[in-house]
Amino acid sequence: MLKVEHIGIAVKGFATAIPLYEKLLNTTCYKTETVDSEKVNTAFFRQGDTKIELLESTDPEGVIARFIEKKGEGIHHIAFEVTDILAEMARLQAEGFTLLNEIPKKGADNKLVCFLHPKGTNGVLVELCQEIG
Ligand code: ZN
Repeated sequence: MLKVEHIGIAVKGFATAIPLYEKLLNTTCYKTETVDSEKVNTAFFRQGDTKIELLESTDPEGVIARFIEKKGEGIHHIAFEVTDILAEMARLQAEGFTLLNEIPKKGADNKLVCFLHPKGTNGVLVELCQEIG
C-alpha cells in the first residue's frame, strides 16, 4: 500500500460540516460528489499529501445514516492507495482478511475501491483505492 489516501468522516450534514472543516483545515472544499450506489454525498479537502473525505447520507437507510445512528458522527474509514487493487485484494484475502466486496466498485473521486470487514481489522473499516487510469 502506498499511503493513506484519505480519511473518511461521517457527518450529519454538509451545511455545517463543510464550513467547519474549511475553518479547521484552513482550505476550501475542492469537490463534492454523490455516489448513488452508496447513498452518500462526499466532500473533499486536500491536506498535505492526503485528503479528508466528509460523508453525508442521502438516505435515512443508507450506510452512513446507520453508522451515525449507531456510533454518532466521526471517523468512518481509512483509505489506503494501492497501485494494483486486484493484486492487493488477493493478497489480503490470502492473509485471511474479509473483503466486503469481491469486485472493486466505482467510488468517489475517480477511484476503484474495495472495503475490508472491520471485524478483521481491530474495528477499523479499511478502504483500498486505486486511481482509475
Ligand atoms: Zn473513502
